[in-house]
Amino acid sequence: MEQKGLRSQIDSNELQGGLGTVSEQAKSSIEITLAAESGLGYGEGSISHRAGTERVGIEVVKQAEAVINSSIILTDISVDSEGLSIEDDGCGDGREAGVILQGDTEIKKPSLNRAKVFGGGATMAVAARIGVDGLSEQTLGEEFKVAMDELDEKYIGFGAHTDSHAHGENCGCGAIDKAPEIIANTVKFRDQITATIKALGIEDDLTSVFEKFLDASIRTKDQEFSGKQVSESIKAHDKITKRLLGGHEEQYIVLNFISGKTVDQHVVRQTTDDQVQVFATDVWRLQEIAQKL
Ligand SMILES: [Zn+2]
Ligand SMILES: [Zn+2]
Repeated sequence: MEQKGLRSQIDSNELQGGLGTVSEQAKSSIEITLAAESGLGYGEGSISHRAGTERVGIEVVKQAEAVINSSIILTDISVDSEGLSIEDDGCGDGREAGVILQGDTEIKKPSLNRAKVFGGGATMAVAARIGVDGLSEQTLGEEFKVAMDELDEKYIGFGAHTDSHAHGENCGCGAIDKAPEIIANTVKFRDQITATIKALGIEDDLTSVFEKFLDASIRTKDQEFSGKQVSESIKAHDKITKRLLGGHEEQYIVLNFISGKTVDQHVVRQTTDDQVQVFATDVWRLQEIAQKL
């Protein structure tokens, strides 16, 4: 699939799938930008916009895109009993939450809107550590543990999810379970990732970051890794883990740049009768984690 470049500022109904971004423009309005019209055009796995469109039909896709192109795609981060914004985060997986756990204990509360980063804060902390200093521990599993301790020391909340069909050494979060492969793919798709980042308007020189990921991918290539153990460590930190239901139906990635808000993935599922899901990333949260570490 060919990669099309950035088109800034699009009209409603023009969103064709792939990567959309939402950022602060004027004080009250939001800007929705289509960053990769034909999708990212690279990567591995069975989740794709094209296949999803064929499955659900163009009418449902239009409903989803109308929501994504409107202000209701964003919602406030939920507040706790004291009225403060909840300070943890979770993964951008588009599926619906079932059981909610705090540590190992089920809590009888509705799922709150927390910030979303790929895999949750622990995964992004690992990515940030590798990108800046390289893999500091002997194994990726150890790197996750040290990253969680660092998040605790710096009072940065984090959370995660499992799902209802994970088995073996998997926890159900692809970003965690496939962490070694994702590190390897960072190297494999270096040129495409660089183009995507440029399309998002980021001009930083990433040479050293890619070198650190190359080194990490070589060192972790033949190592055993257990997403389930990472998930157990997150629970041992007494964090919120959401058990997600059903299969993946994500057709879009929505990037939100407005601090204090997150992507309302529920409204897309609801509008499309659970036929379309969106991946979400709160870029402001990523920046916050990277700055504090
Ligand atoms: Zn996940
Ligand atoms: Zn799954």
